[in-house]
Amino acid sequence: MKILAVDLGGTHATCALVEGRRILVRQTLALPGSPSLAATLEAIASSLEELHAGSPAQGIGFGFCGLVDSRRTRIASTNGKYTDAVDLDLAGWARERFGLPLRLENDARLALLGECFAGAAQGETDVVMFTLGTGIGGVAMIGGRLLRGKHDQAGVLGGHIPVNFAGRRCTCGAVGCAESEASGWSLPLVTRAWPGFASSALAARNIDFQNLFACATAGDAVSREIVDHCLRVWGAAAVAAVHSFDPELLVYGGGVMQRADLILPFLQDYLNAHAWTPWGKVRVRAAQLGNDAALLGAVPLFDQELPLVR
Ligand SMILES: [Zn+2]
Repeated sequence: MKILAVDLGGTHATCALVEGRRILVRQTLALPGSPSLAATLEAIASSLEELHAGSPAQGIGFGFCGLVDSRRTRIASTNGKYTDAVDLDLAGWARERFGLPLRLENDARLALLGECFAGAAQGETDVVMFTLGTGIGGVAMIGGRLLRGKHDQAGVLGGHIPVNFAGRRCTCGAVGCAESEASGWSLPLVTRAWPGFASSALAARNIDFQNLFACATAGDAVSREIVDHCLRVWGAAAVAAVHSFDPELLVYGGGVMQRADLILPFLQDYLNAHAWTPWGKVRVRAAQLGNDAALLGAVPLFDQELPLVR
């Protein structure tokens, strides 16, 4: 079975033709600040038409960066991006334009599905995946099924687990979310407010995780304190996820994981020390598929009968 996969993020979309566990061909489209999904769909359609003409597919699996009602195939809520998306009928669009059925899912859920199907979580049925990047994605699978809940937002807001009730205001409306305490977008805010920042090595650099880790490794005291803060934020979110979802495995992806050598051992030790799991130890592992995860997740999304275990 060949599937057309779409992974739509805030700044780019990737369209691909996927067969089984192989991505046959992919195209990445830059979407510089496009606020409208209706306008963006035209570029996506052109790419899909090209892929579809070369090798006909049987369906479209669509990953979207917002809250998704997958049962109704509708986008339920966006976080400042593509505000017209909630009014769009993507299934109707796919039917009219391509004569194909379309299944819709949140992009982070799709990435977890991909890692279970072809990556770091193959053979696992109880998994939480965190994506540490500009924001923090956190999605849960229990008993081999993606957790959805009545309003389709169960187990998909792991980045918005509050870790500090006296913390920073988050884009979601809460305060002290993992994302507002230690993610790509909140790092400059956290860093500039840190005591001693002005005289730290970090003050002379662009503030991102790469520079933060570099300054900390070079011995800068403030950078070391902030790295420790971030690790503890992620550790608190990990414990919260374990206590909420009862996983046996936590998978970590995202750009921040370039320092997996530092992050994974910390999180494993933190969970060993703080998670209440009398049955054993929750394992911590790096994601394997990178940006391909959501594309490969489109296959089991589309064919629910397909076993996730090889
Ligand atoms: Zn939040």
